[in-house]
Amino acid sequence: MNDTTRNAATGRQLEHVTVFDDPIDLLSYRRDCSVVKPGTAEVAAQPADTDDVVAVIADAVHASRPVYVRGGGTMYAGGANPHAGGTVIDLGRMNRVLELDLARGIVVVEAGIRFADLLDYLEPYGQTVGIVPSTGPAATVGGAVSSHALGTGSPRHQSMGDCVAGLEVVLADGTRLRTGSAACKDAGFFQRYCLGPDLTGLFIGGDAVFGVVTAVCLWLYPLPEVRKTFSFGFPDAHTTGGFLSALQGRELTRNIWYAAGYEGATVRARVLAAEPDFAPAAIPGFGLGVEFGGTEAAIDEDHARLVALAREYGGDEFPAFNAAYFHRLRHDESYWYSFAGYFSRSRCAILMSSLPCDRLGAFVDVIDAQRVRWPDFIWGAASVVCRRGLHGGVLAFYDEQTEWEAMLAAIDAATTALISAGCIPYKSGKIWARHVQACDAYFHVLELIKRGIDPGGLLSPGNLGLDQRRAPAR
Ligand SMILES: Cc1cc2nc3c(=O)[nH]c(=O)nc-3n(C[C@H](O)[C@H](O)[C@H](O)COP(=O)(O)OP(=O)(O)OC[C@H]3O[C@@H](n4cnc5c(N)ncnc54)[C@H](O)[C@@H]3O)c2cc1C
Repeated sequence: MNDTTRNAATGRQLEHVTVFDDPIDLLSYRRDCSVVKPGTAEVAAQPADTDDVVAVIADAVHASRPVYVRGGGTMYAGGANPHAGGTVIDLGRMNRVLELDLARGIVVVEAGIRFADLLDYLEPYGQTVGIVPSTGPAATVGGAVSSHALGTGSPRHQSMGDCVAGLEVVLADGTRLRTGSAACKDAGFFQRYCLGPDLTGLFIGGDAVFGVVTAVCLWLYPLPEVRKTFSFGFPDAHTTGGFLSALQGRELTRNIWYAAGYEGATVRARVLAAEPDFAPAAIPGFGLGVEFGGTEAAIDEDHARLVALAREYGGDEFPAFNAAYFHRLRHDESYWYSFAGYFSRSRCAILMSSLPCDRLGAFVDVIDAQRVRWPDFIWGAASVVCRRGLHGGVLAFYDEQTEWEAMLAAIDAATTALISAGCIPYKSGKIWARHVQACDAYFHVLELIKRGIDPGGLLSPGNLGLDQRRAPAR
């Protein structure tokens, strides 16, 4: 490790950059939390500010080294894995709040700040941000922007990108770009859509193929006065999908901060573990947990409307699942962290897709088919409710010593089955690469943009299926 390296291309001394080139130090940069195979970096660099990022990129250009970018390394799509070797830029030291403007309703942060630190910072002001992934203690805001985060906030806002007012990004040629209203130097951040097309969107979910996000402007939202959880039960995933379509169509998600669907087996296991005498026949075929946030009166009103709507779809409130599991999941934070830690430590391959509510049944059918085809693995489904549609996660536990190859094949088969069921890649990284490539016109435009702003293919080769070093020009 050394702290001072001269950048031969620019002559700028990387005074504040911590550079790792010892193979032992580089071990922790080999992979994220995904099933995707690791890569081997030659160098890892921890910049202290945006000027450092510019210098590290220039250094990599000079040395003809590809550049990968790492926030918390908690993603399950392999985007941070340095498959082509090269430099990994670790944003962990760029973790400051740059600006809080309550009048404009924005906070500007360095991309490496972790959600837990940002939420702690905002709490005394009675504020929060729109989307928070369940890995908040470790995940960075830049990583979440670059990988389409979801979770808390999705029923109100949809996805991470819907909460971003603008970005600061460093491009492969060293250009330092500010998007949204901040493109006009004197205006600063406050407005996403202005000037012309939305350049912010190019980098949201971009998996570091078009630029390195160095700062993010997020809109602020007041913390809710009260939080309350409820659970519902439905005959199956198909009826739950119909209920969710109606819920979204009537804008009843406005006070819902988090909502997730659970397969019947999960509901049964949680309820019977807590209440062994509970009548199994009374346990529904599909469960839904809902967390409201707002005023007491608004929650009571929306809760009553949800109960009435659930009954229209053959469902009803099912408090036993709330008592056994869902309330604890949302309110007991130590439980919440150990839950995420359990998943990341016990080698769970996670594959995230997005789907319309009317495909929820088809999504669960895909997981059932995986269970039949790969009976040695334990499979699960996670569905997170959005403002429109759902994000659906496939979960599969495996033993990395003996089952890694088989799990890669099973997950690849799951990607194909999900596409056939009408789901689409979400959090693409490398895990969905061939399906991004298969979106002909869309992928063609991605390639054209990539060739225009990163002609040498420096940034994150392989992510989103883009790899200039191999792909011939069309
Ligand atoms: C158990 C478990 C639970 C999870 N739950 C959720 C959840 O509820 N919701 C959710 O959305 N996700 C979830 N995730 C996935 C992941 O934690 C989040 O998406 C998180 O936001 C990723 O942030 P990160 O900083 O760890 O990103 P990383 O893993 O470091 O990077 C993700 C991608 O973004 C790129 N990237 C990172 N930083 C930058 C930057 N500054 N500029 C450009 N590109 C960058 C990387 O190259 C990579 O392609 C979960 C993961 C696990 C293991």
